[in-house]
Amino acid sequence: MGLNMNINCLKCNNKMTKSRASSLSGKLTLIKEPIKYFTTKESSIVIPYVCSQCGLVEWYVDKPQNFNERT
Ligand SMILES: [Zn+2]
Repeated sequence: MGLNMNINCLKCNNKMTKSRASSLSGKLTLIKEPIKYFTTKESSIVIPYVCSQCGLVEWYVDKPQNFNERT
C-alpha cells in the first residue's frame, strides 16, 4: 500500500482522489482489537479516496501489515 496509490473507482473506473478525513488532526486512526496499549505497531491512519464522478469513498489504512492477525 502506501500513501500515494493510483486507485480507480470500482463503479465507473474514474481515477479516485486522495483526500483527508476531517478531524482535529486531519488524521483518522484505526487500532487493531483487542487494544492492549496504544502502539504505532498495531495502528494506522486511514486515508479516504473519493470518486469525483459517483461519490464512492474507499478507505485504506496506511499500514495494513499492522493489522496482521498473527502478530
Ligand atoms: Zn465512481
